[in-house]
Amino acid sequence: MDNVTEKLLECFGHRKFKSELQERAIRAIARGVHDVYVSMPTGSGKSLCFQLPAMLQDNKVAIVFSPLLALIKDQIDHLTKLKIQAESINSKMTSKDRERVINDLRSLKPDTRFLYVTPEQAATGTFKSLLEHLVKYKKVSYIVVDEAHCVSEWGHDFRPDYLKLGDLRESYKSIPWVALTATASAEVAKDILSNLKLLQPVAQYKTPSFRKNLYYDVVYQNCIEDEVGDLCEFLKKSLKEDENVKPRDKSAVIVYCRTREQTEDLAHMLSKRGLKSLAYHGGLKSSERVLVQERWSSGDCPCVCATVSFGMGVDKATVRAVAHWGLAQNVAAYYQESGRAGRDGKPAFCRIYYCRNERNAVDFLLKTEIARARTPEQKQRCKNAYKSFEIMVKYCEEVKCRHKTFAEYFGEETPRCASRCDACSDERAVRRALEQHQRRAMS
Ligand code: ADP
Ligand code: MG
Ligand code: ZN
Repeated sequence: MDNVTEKLLECFGHRKFKSELQERAIRAIARGVHDVYVSMPTGSGKSLCFQLPAMLQDNKVAIVFSPLLALIKDQIDHLTKLKIQAESINSKMTSKDRERVINDLRSLKPDTRFLYVTPEQAATGTFKSLLEHLVKYKKVSYIVVDEAHCVSEWGHDFRPDYLKLGDLRESYKSIPWVALTATASAEVAKDILSNLKLLQPVAQYKTPSFRKNLYYDVVYQNCIEDEVGDLCEFLKKSLKEDENVKPRDKSAVIVYCRTREQTEDLAHMLSKRGLKSLAYHGGLKSSERVLVQERWSSGDCPCVCATVSFGMGVDKATVRAVAHWGLAQNVAAYYQESGRAGRDGKPAFCRIYYCRNERNAVDFLLKTEIARARTPEQKQRCKNAYKSFEIMVKYCEEVKCRHKTFAEYFGEETPRCASRCDACSDERAVRRALEQHQRRAMS
């Protein structure tokens, strides 16, 4: 047992690393030679990647930038439970409390091991002079940027104040930086490295996007007689006959729809065809939403037809199929939504029921938004959204390995799909279907 694994147990109570990638990232950060970029899905244990290395450095504090006070509170509570001193400086605390934190940090040997601040706070004079003091007296172990995608206009929650953090990177070259995110297309990753001005070469630790237990395909709605019937068969076939498992481990499916009406209609039609289904969308009362989610999770109702608001906190491992009734917003969203299938590692199916009319409707909406944008930044963001949507359309209207599209999007090497998508398992059939779709769309 070395000091890294020792600390893992002693401070955090874990006997093992969550993944090989987590361990490699932790060891790289602990070496402290390079700036490190970590991209792993939500729930993979990114916090530990900087928290453990920081605990290896006595009498030093790690500065952690985090976008929201709520997130900061969660992290501080978690560390406090582990008896690790973590603090924040923010506008919501009493001046007495703030003084207490600052006094500790300015003392010879601070007790505080983690200081969490929002990027807005980072821009204040109080913080800047505190940081200068801490750096001068070599009391900073790491500077960490959590939810680093906020620095990119390609990300979904861009925060202009995150951009200023790049200037700090330039001012304090002696301290290693760590940037972490769960959402990273190739564009966002590029923005994180350049906008935060991370020092090259940056060591990168990234979960590959390829999940070989997921089979991806696209079906054209205008090429089938009975679309709902086809969907119903697909879902029923994906669901396993699992009589002997606990109800919570029963297999389940999700159908993502673009509108509330679609969720209601489909849930109704699928139920009529013998597949028990419920609708889930933002228009339901929150008590109703909870009930639907619970009936689905508990194995009482195998199918939910939902808008994309269904997913936060869905942690069912035995989802055997995710169907999209029409397009997802973009490839990142599609990857995430479809990725709720097969979390248990067993085979699962992801299918888009593509509809050209719907594509045209979304196309029109996005173009209207671009035209309506008031500021240049707004316009840029709308244009980015449109470009992302175009990649999604191309995904459906091209004969190309589906997993390859994801890999390109995330800036990775082409994975060995080996027939885990329609284009790789039967290219000719996919080409024929696409041609038929295009002919019918024209007429
Ligand atoms: P992320 O930031 O990637 O979404 P978190 O850092 O919030 O993930 O961690 C998710 C959960 O995993 C937390 O409950 C955390 O305690 C747990 N966790 C992290 N590392 C390990 C580990 N090595 N062993 C067991 N649980 C872990
Ligand atoms: Mg996190
Ligand atoms: Zn393929």
